[in-house]
Amino acid sequence: MTTNQELFDRAQRVIPGGVNSPVRAFTSVGGTPYFVARAQGPRVWDVEGNEYLDLVQSYGAIIGGHAHPVIIEAIRAAAGDGTSYGAPTEREVLLAEEIWTRVPSCDKVRMVSSGTEATMTVLRLARGATGRTRVVKFAGNYHGHGDALLAQSGSAVAHLDAASSPDGIPGSAGVPSSAVADTLVVPYNQVPHLDDTVACVIVEPVAANMGLVAPAPGFLEGLRAECDRVGALLVFDEVITGFRIARGGAQATYAITPDLTCFGKVIGGGLNVGAFGGRSDLMDLLAPLGPVYQAGTLSGNPLATAAGLAALGLLDDGAYDELHATAAALASGLQGALTRAGLVAVVPVVGSLVGLHFGHRLPVDYDTARDTDEETYAAFFHAMLDRGVALAPGAYEVMFPGLAHTPEVIERIVEVASDAALAVAATT
Ligand SMILES: *Cc1c(COP(=O)(O)O)cnc(C)c1O
Repeated sequence: MTTNQELFDRAQRVIPGGVNSPVRAFTSVGGTPYFVARAQGPRVWDVEGNEYLDLVQSYGAIIGGHAHPVIIEAIRAAAGDGTSYGAPTEREVLLAEEIWTRVPSCDKVRMVSSGTEATMTVLRLARGATGRTRVVKFAGNYHGHGDALLAQSGSAVAHLDAASSPDGIPGSAGVPSSAVADTLVVPYNQVPHLDDTVACVIVEPVAANMGLVAPAPGFLEGLRAECDRVGALLVFDEVITGFRIARGGAQATYAITPDLTCFGKVIGGGLNVGAFGGRSDLMDLLAPLGPVYQAGTLSGNPLATAAGLAALGLLDDGAYDELHATAAALASGLQGALTRAGLVAVVPVVGSLVGLHFGHRLPVDYDTARDTDEETYAAFFHAMLDRGVALAPGAYEVMFPGLAHTPEVIERIVEVASDAALAVAATT
């Protein structure tokens, strides 16, 4: 039998850090990553046969549980007809219609292959539409790994920020200062004063890459008003929140209409997908209709659209009621377990998203989010993993309870957490 250690050793010889995305490497929590062999519903099994109740759920790409039979069957059926054509297909139309039905601000939608591609393209579109160059982003919001948006990005980039210059720009080696010269990074939950050089403000309407930070009352409204005042576009990055916290995403929850919206994760049903959408007059500036160029060999891919449509098919109003109840139960159970053990922690919940912050007070921005005790997170992470529950191996990620996390599964996770929290408290 292969072990995780053997595979990790081999992986490190042929893959930088042994992983294809940094947070998976366990750098911030220490130890050897488990290599997944298979997954079903709320569970994953590693190559050694260890079973974990999984709260990672592909960082939010999975919402119906792993290997959901309806999604797998949709992919299987689609694959039999070919995997990519370079010509339009019916399912692309169906998926765009489905998105438009759920998210009324998206008159038109274009599919891409990742969330990063969606945010990069939206910047170009916003600049093309306004003839302006500056973009405003919020510290601790992650918008993928494009040059212009990587500064102070939370998630696994948090560890690079610490090592870079005090202002945090540009956040990664290899990003020329020219690439971020027009990026302004401002604190989350404060409405910045804009001027008429700003093409767009991009925001995670619920921040889920610096732990979980809800928008303060009036923040999103204030952004909408300030953008309108100076003619800047408001872009919601709903790559995590879209189709996850509500049928219509965060913009439905908070009743704010952005000009453009980015999607990813849930909308691919576990395959490689991103999308962006918005008002017709903006979207029609894209090639072939307009002067803003964007293209993709695998955009609107037959397997990805099949999986995405099947995933959205699981998400009716009842599903969101269920998701919200699950997240609330997980959050209150975890909070109780941690508090009873005497650990200082707050467990925020927004819709179906749950955070975990080892500090006294709910974080409201990147500075307060970074108050989290990363060492305690690492200890709790390992205590949970040893007992069969997989959290993300990074203190700035959130938990993704889904439709497969039944009340029994949540109960079991909370039991494990009680035990894990006591073990951590005993050693600190
Ligand atoms: C994950 C994420 C992205 C990037 O999506 P990828 O598919 O990983 O490129 C962008 N924005 C937010 C808010 C995300 O969480």
